[in-house]
Amino acid sequence: MNVILLGPPGAGKGTQAKLLEERHGMVQLSTGDMLRAAVKAGTDVGKIAEDIMKRGDLVPNDVVVSIISDRIDQPDAKRGFILDGFPRNVAQAEALDAMLEKKGLKLDHVIQMEVDDEALVERITGRFTCGNCGAGYHDRFKPTKVAGVCDVCGSTEMVRRADDNETTVRSRLATYHKETAPLLPYYKKRGNLVQLNGMAPMDQVAEEIKTVLAADQRLSG
Ligand code: AMP
Repeated sequence: MNVILLGPPGAGKGTQAKLLEERHGMVQLSTGDMLRAAVKAGTDVGKIAEDIMKRGDLVPNDVVVSIISDRIDQPDAKRGFILDGFPRNVAQAEALDAMLEKKGLKLDHVIQMEVDDEALVERITGRFTCGNCGAGYHDRFKPTKVAGVCDVCGSTEMVRRADDNETTVRSRLATYHKETAPLLPYYKKRGNLVQLNGMAPMDQVAEEIKTVLAADQRLSG
C-alpha cells in the first residue's frame, strides 16, 4: 500500500510514518530527511538545498522529484511506502502521478493531518532528538527524564534542526498555506483524501490511520 501523509510542518507526519514503519512494515520516504542527509554529507544536492531550507522555502521541484523517484526504485519500497513531506505543491503532485504511472504503481490514500498554526509553532520550536539513536523529545510535552540525557540510549548528544526556530517555522507555515494547501482540493477531487484531526493524541491518530488502511485491505480482499 502506498500512502501520502499530508499536513503542515509539525503536524506529526514523521512520527506517524515511523509508527507505520514499525507496525506495518511500510517504508517512510521523507524528502526532508533525505535533504538533511545530503546537506550533512555536503553533496551537490545538499549545497543547493542548505540555504533554501534555512529560509523555510521549497527546494526546486526537479531536485526532490528526482530523489523520490530514485528512492521508490529501491527494493524496500516494494513493501509499500509512506510519503512524508512530498509532494509539497501541485507541480510535484503531477510529477508524482506521472512517475507512479510509469513505474506501474498506484497511490492508495492521501491522509491529511489538520493542526492549527499556533499549536504548530509551539510543537516545532520545542522539539529535539537524540543524535545517537534518533529518539524524539519535546521541551514541554516530552522532556528527557534526566535533563540532557537520552532515556533510550543514555547519549548526551541532543540535536535540534537548524530550521526549527520560530522565524523559520513561521516562514515554513506560510509556504505550506501558499504552496501545499492547494493539494487538498487536488486530491479531494480524485476521491482519495482522508482528513484527520492532527491535534488528537499520537496514539489516537495512529489508530485512525490504521482504520483507514485496514478498511482498504478488506476491500481489496
Ligand atoms: P521537512 O523535514 O519535511 O519539514 O522539510 C524540511 C525542509 O526541506 C523544507 O522546509 C524544505 O525546505 C525542504 N523540503 C522537504 N521536502 C520538500 C519538497 N517535497 N519540496 C521542496 N522542498 C522540500
